Amino acid sequence: YFITLEGTEGVGKSTNLAFICEWLRSRDIEFIETREPGGTPLAEELRQLLLANRAEPFDPTAELLTVFAARAQHLAQVIRPALESGKTVVCDRFTDATYAYQGAGRGLDKSLVRLLEQQVQGQLQPDLTVLLDIDPRTGLERAAARSKADRFENEKIAFFERVRAGYRERAETSNNRFAVIDAGQPLDKVQADLAATLEARL
Ligand code: C5P
Repeated sequence: YFITLEGTEGVGKSTNLAFICEWLRSRDIEFIETREPGGTPLAEELRQLLLANRAEPFDPTAELLTVFAARAQHLAQVIRPALESGKTVVCDRFTDATYAYQGAGRGLDKSLVRLLEQQVQGQLQPDLTVLLDIDPRTGLERAAARSKADRFENEKIAFFERVRAGYRERAETSNNRFAVIDAGQPLDKVQADLAATLEARL
């Protein structure tokens, strides 16, 4: 079973990822926890390239290809072997983030994202994608409060509005794969929704 967790900045992804892992542990479900971009030593090096602050801006297409390079490595080394051995995989971001950030956010053609998705993933899709949805302004305020600023967080609200819209479009067009949770609610309410989703789906 393949679970992915998505959302814009300051949505509470880390806290809720820990909650999902605790829920799986409490039910003795064997799982691995991983993340994108990253998840293997080589893919983590590509993540560093993507996130570093530098004078030269990342060309959007170069960024897209680097994200998928990391994903190909991660799938080959970690995700596919884990799923094949019967483990549940919990992944912090996956291809929906690429549609949202590089597609909707940076304005790259969705059909290019889809082409790379098909080449890199084949038929593989998450079984469940939890989208933590929040007004980007609220999210960025939360992220700023814990001063976890990187080059992405310095960008305008408008960028994250597009990313959010990109995520919501994915949720609307991906059958029942998505569970969209209102992350603007108090944390106990968010986690009650999350637990109900896991009960219903797993
Ligand atoms: O998930 P996390 O917040 O650690 O992601 C690190 C950064 O990478 C985030 O700021 C996110 O906006 C960015 N990112 C991206 N494109 C992706 C995945 C993540 O721009 N496909």
